[in-house]
Amino acid sequence: MGDIRSLKGVGEKTEVLLRKLGIDTTEELINYYPRTYEVFSPISEVGRLVAGETAAIYAKVTRNQGTKKIRNLNITTAVFTDNSGSIEVTWFNMPFLQKMLRPGFLTVLRGRVIRKNGRIVIEQPAMYQFDEYRKLVNVMQPIYSLTAGLSNKTITKLVKGLLDDNIYFEDFIPERIRNQYELPEFAAAVKKIHFPNNFEEYKEARRRLVFNEFFSFIIMLSLRKMNLGTLPNPYKIGKCPEVKELCDKLPYKLTGAQQRVLAEIQTDLAGDRLMSRLVQGDVGSGKTILAVLALMQVALSGYQGALMAPTEVLAKQHYESVTKMFLQYGVNLNVALLTGSMTAKEKRETYDKIKNHEVDIIIGTHALIQDKVEYDKLALVVTDEQHRFGVRQRESFMKKGGSDSLASCNAHVLVMSATPIPRTLAIILYGDLDISIVDELPANRLPIKNCVVDTSYRPNAYRFIENEVRKGHQAYIICPMVEENEELEAESVINYTDLLKNELSDDIQIEYLHGKMKATDKNAIMERFADNEINVLVSTTVIEVGINVPNSTVMLVENAERFGLAQLHQLRGRVGRGDAQSYCIFINSSEKDEAKERLEILVKSNDGFYIAQEDLKLRGPGDLLGIRQSGDMVFKIGDIYQDATVLKAASDSAKLLLAENPGLSGKEYERLSAYVEKLEKKHSDTLNL
Ligand code: ADP
Ligand code: MG
Repeated sequence: MGDIRSLKGVGEKTEVLLRKLGIDTTEELINYYPRTYEVFSPISEVGRLVAGETAAIYAKVTRNQGTKKIRNLNITTAVFTDNSGSIEVTWFNMPFLQKMLRPGFLTVLRGRVIRKNGRIVIEQPAMYQFDEYRKLVNVMQPIYSLTAGLSNKTITKLVKGLLDDNIYFEDFIPERIRNQYELPEFAAAVKKIHFPNNFEEYKEARRRLVFNEFFSFIIMLSLRKMNLGTLPNPYKIGKCPEVKELCDKLPYKLTGAQQRVLAEIQTDLAGDRLMSRLVQGDVGSGKTILAVLALMQVALSGYQGALMAPTEVLAKQHYESVTKMFLQYGVNLNVALLTGSMTAKEKRETYDKIKNHEVDIIIGTHALIQDKVEYDKLALVVTDEQHRFGVRQRESFMKKGGSDSLASCNAHVLVMSATPIPRTLAIILYGDLDISIVDELPANRLPIKNCVVDTSYRPNAYRFIENEVRKGHQAYIICPMVEENEELEAESVINYTDLLKNELSDDIQIEYLHGKMKATDKNAIMERFADNEINVLVSTTVIEVGINVPNSTVMLVENAERFGLAQLHQLRGRVGRGDAQSYCIFINSSEKDEAKERLEILVKSNDGFYIAQEDLKLRGPGDLLGIRQSGDMVFKIGDIYQDATVLKAASDSAKLLLAENPGLSGKEYERLSAYVEKLEKKHSDTLNL
């Protein structure tokens, strides 16, 4: 397989952009599967459009309303009419359309229908000629994840070129297994995943590729486990009285579940082999304190411990709360923060402190696993919200343990996750981990009160937020989502905040947060929010994981219908963290019945596990396209819920194969063996140990 540079049509600029997406070789390009597909529906009548759908109309301009400039946003508006009615259409930052939009101009427009100020409008539609559109109807077109400067068209063309050239890869699944599970051939599956002719073809192709992913992953994990055996524990760390003392001083008593899990962790730390433990607990179940207590025990025994968080904001928050807690309760340990946004000088100083063991506990983002970081007797590594990292970082961190000899280079590993995974699945996926479950919420919690409302309720919701702020509480508002485009998303947050400032009373402090902001600015906002200097925080989903501001009591989610339920549950988990009653308001902008029905599941239950299951039952496989799933995926295309049967099959056949042939010897398994070796390398390469 060649480097992408050798590809026809890939110039210097495209090359850089492809690499940015992690595509370095033609093999990687061909395995860069679509994020979703677009299926163009037949043309609708203007008079029958419903908010919440993506539709195409064939209509002509009856009024051009010109282009307005609001801040750095150009808004172009025109009215389009067909035999059944008229509709207002808006484009952002496309002023050049102006000259086309002369009355009488007839075209196909395809875009999202939304309700604005009580009327139905279409925003940011794409334009097609009638014949061009007709050819696209009912064809599944691949939509790839993109990066600024690289278009979907470009990727589509490159992939198509490769497939036409018939450069395929050899199938690594032995024929016997392929037959047993009636899996299509690899080459055919790859072709169809990019360009399925229909939904059936897509499903078959996907099943095969998901099988590949699960099967090779499980084989890799099992082989690793067999090779490593159980690692002896070089750091037997006994209980220390300070941990118990701190527990006694905390303003709350640990729940029964927390006490049980803490005991499990402590047994591991002192046991004969290294700990490899997954702590699973719903949002708000109090996992952080368990990590802190474990880190404390390790540090007080003369070792270093590290806590890694998936986002800078979360790392910072952990750092602040741990230092505060240590200061308040007289724990004499040094804590350092290490994140990507620190200046080179700050980083260097921190590296030195780590190396010289001037700090005992290091909290940070994946900056913690950079080559430059040299630990001194690192004995425990905790990853928070581990599902966010993917396997790669987790594995590489496991290797960072603090001993001189590489062979025994390992630390105790504790991973924490709020993703509710059924135990059986967790055992398959994290075959190498023991599992603890924090299945009890702190007693002071009142169940969150939820409601699903339509957009007409918005003013009431604002009054409600005002009231909560008057009581001293705080609120989050998750902004309408814009198509996966960070630029527009930032724009939308800023505009929403402006509008909100007119709606809410003047004494209420409103700020915003989005992914495009500099890390230092994000941190500053989060700090002020944590200190209750900001009452209402308007944000994108950047606040989704881990954020803990127990004084917040309202979560309002705009466009709730566009999120996956699991993600909404995570968002909701930002409130209900203290002893005050909390509320979650889901604004549903879709007028389709199914959307409301799906959201009602959240009202019925606050239990993440139940929600994940109900969500699956309700969604037909077709509905999965287009609803943004949270980034909880370890796998590229496999979804442990949706593909639970494939996961089971892959696990069964992997286990059976390894039982019969643990060395994967024989010609039949050559390719599999090579692939798994590559996979394992990929997972541990990051550190260049
Ligand atoms: P998560 O499991 O989602 O990571 P956190 O660890 O952030 O949850 O805990 C959420 C909040 O609950 C924090 O403010 C924490 O101080 C508090 N908390 C943790 N354990 C208890 C407990 N046993 N009783 C009361 N509050 C608790
Ligand atoms: Mg947490």
